[in-house]
Amino acid sequence: MSDTLEHAQPLTVLAEDEAIFRDSVRQFAEAQVRPLVREMDEHAKIPRSLIDRLFELGVMGIEVPESHGGAGASFFHAVLAVEELSRIDPSIGVLVDVQNTLVINAILRWGNEDLRRRYLPRLASSSVGAYALSEAGSGSDAFALTSRAREEGDTFVLTGRKLWITNGNEADIFLIFATVDPEAGYRGITAFVVERDFPGFAVGKKEDKLGIRASSTCELMLDGCRVPKANVLGEVGKGYKTAIETLNEGRIGIGAQMIGLARGALEHAIKYTKERKQFGKPIAEFQAVQHQLARAAVDVEAARLTVYNAARLRDAGKPFLTEAAVCKIFSSEVAERVSSLAVNLFGGNGFVKEYPVEKLFRDAKIGQIYEGTSNLQLQTIAKQILG
Ligand SMILES: Cc1cc2nc3c(=O)[nH]c(=O)nc-3n(C[C@H](O)[C@H](O)[C@H](O)COP(=O)(O)OP(=O)(O)OC[C@H]3O[C@@H](n4cnc5c(N)ncnc54)[C@H](O)[C@@H]3O)c2cc1C
Repeated sequence: MSDTLEHAQPLTVLAEDEAIFRDSVRQFAEAQVRPLVREMDEHAKIPRSLIDRLFELGVMGIEVPESHGGAGASFFHAVLAVEELSRIDPSIGVLVDVQNTLVINAILRWGNEDLRRRYLPRLASSSVGAYALSEAGSGSDAFALTSRAREEGDTFVLTGRKLWITNGNEADIFLIFATVDPEAGYRGITAFVVERDFPGFAVGKKEDKLGIRASSTCELMLDGCRVPKANVLGEVGKGYKTAIETLNEGRIGIGAQMIGLARGALEHAIKYTKERKQFGKPIAEFQAVQHQLARAAVDVEAARLTVYNAARLRDAGKPFLTEAAVCKIFSSEVAERVSSLAVNLFGGNGFVKEYPVEKLFRDAKIGQIYEGTSNLQLQTIAKQILG
């Protein structure tokens, strides 16, 4: 038997440390997040006290080495955390997701020792991070970005506008992509680590959204923002590589957000249909309802396997591009289907804010849009299978 086969494990069997970590996040989400879900959605805000507790829990610096103040855990741990938090509230899931799978991931992978030393301990202990690639004119076509970075002595001066930036409201540390040479196309794109109080930087309007309302989505204004050259992440002109590679991994985190959401919706539907009586018995006793719930369980199980597989491949250092695209598109479709079913099974109660499922239905939609729309995921998959 080959070495690989000897160590092959069922995808859903967790190592002891993974199981302990997953359970601690699950308990936290039940105790600390669940009571706040409706209020956070209504006020479109995550209280700072909850963010502080997420830091204390250790989920804001999951892959940060212990030497830099983090948990020194794996990408798979981050996926477990995002899944468990999103089961209760996908807005909290995405806060933690962006922090770990995009911002910290990029600094760990592309940052030199100076940047790692200056920023990783802060990100693991108190500072929220944000990842700013999109602009009004460049979404799917991300490398059409027009934010400019001009060299001036020891600094780069950044000018432009970033749009749709998750965690914009809460973040202290922003990973910003701008071009040093628009003529050079994608080869001009450079990544910068920008602090909220750098001169010329400001956070603009916050979007009023359909779903994940508590998660802030903001415009960023760069008006001659001075960034020390030491804050270039990776090499000048290689930011496109940082963006592509972090987003390939981030996509697995969105898959995790969506399977957590779908699980949450299915659990609500199971509980409700066992309690709600019509025609003299719980509606869960009607075979039509049972089959709908069973189909949803099939969807959730399949989606979860795609997410875990992509995450395990990533941690094993194996190619995962297609698997990440598959998990993102499939999990987001499953989240939409399962949360929609949950609304149906709650009947009129599914349509009102007093019950939890209409929110999950609204939250599900974002999975098909950010970190590459579903069409873009299909494009990636098609390219791989067609060669
Ligand atoms: C809540 C929220 C949070 C976000 N957070 C962040 C963040 O933290 N950082 C960040 O940088 N960005 C963020 N974004 C931006 C997000 O990544 C973009 O919205 C997304 O990539 C789509 O870009 P777009 O909105 O410009 O749509 P477009 O690119 O204009 O797409 C519109 C439609 O056209 C389709 N389309 C476009 N090109 C093609 C093609 N070649 N083939 C087939 N179909 C195509 C798309 O699939 C889509 O259906 C966020 C967005 C939202 C809504």
